[in-house]
Amino acid sequence: MPDRLKDKVAVISGGSSGIGAAAARLFVAEGARVIVADLQEPLDQRLADLIASEPDRIQFKKCDVSVEAEIVAAIDAAVSAFGKLDAIVACAGVPGMGAAVDIDSDHWDRTFAINARGVFLFTKYAVPHMIEAGGGSIINISSAFGIVAGPHFAAYAASKGAVRNFSKSTALDYVGHGIRSNSVHPGYIDTPMVQNIVNNAPDINAAQAMFNSLQPGGKAGVPEDIAWGCVYLASDEARFVNGAELVIDGGLLAR
Ligand code: NAD
Repeated sequence: MPDRLKDKVAVISGGSSGIGAAAARLFVAEGARVIVADLQEPLDQRLADLIASEPDRIQFKKCDVSVEAEIVAAIDAAVSAFGKLDAIVACAGVPGMGAAVDIDSDHWDRTFAINARGVFLFTKYAVPHMIEAGGGSIINISSAFGIVAGPHFAAYAASKGAVRNFSKSTALDYVGHGIRSNSVHPGYIDTPMVQNIVNNAPDINAAQAMFNSLQPGGKAGVPEDIAWGCVYLASDEARFVNGAELVIDGGLLAR
């Protein structure tokens, strides 16, 4: 069914790479107009080409989600370019690896500034525009490790757990305005984030085997597996889906 997001306007943080880039491409393919808000220019070549060729449908806005004013500017960019705001996908994230004793408080704070505080601020500044538009969909990318723990992911798992419950709080607070808020929980997905973790590990083969062993099928998903879930949550087909945890993990949490 094409045009599932016809006439909708979305901001996608972390949209230059991996899951966010796949979401940006699929949102445009389904008829949405999109602002890609990211620290870096699009890594994904198909996305870069789309931005260059279709500026009336998708634009890039440089945005560090740990800087409040840059989040405000990214939301404003959507409203000024496309006239309103219907959906946000808060996808920007960093891995934040290490067990409690091995990480310091700066590492903890930085992980939370991006993965949790950045998500809060996107909601904070998106909601007034969604109220004005008569409703909206907030899609916060958590993780399977926002539901269960991950070994050596102390700060990451804590930040992703925060996203999960924050999304539910928002779901209750703004349901009267037609705003839905849900979290998405990917399993192991083959993206630059995971490739960097593997490539920087002391034993690359062991790190790759560790990630593969997490998945019941023994191999990672692809960014589009998560992006289609975001399309669904942004669409009117999900109009009664609020405060939910959309797990897309190839069975990781079924163990
Ligand atoms: P990725 O590294 O490919 O993409 C992350 C994007 O976030 C990058 O474009 C990066 O520039 C951007 N980003 C990082 N810090 C930022 C900041 N301060 N401000 C703005 N943008 C920033 O990674 P991905 O795997 O596509 O991850 C996307 C989301 O999915 C993350 O929140 C991640 O935690 C979550 N996730 C990923 C996996 C996985 O296996 N890949 C699993 C569970 C959850």
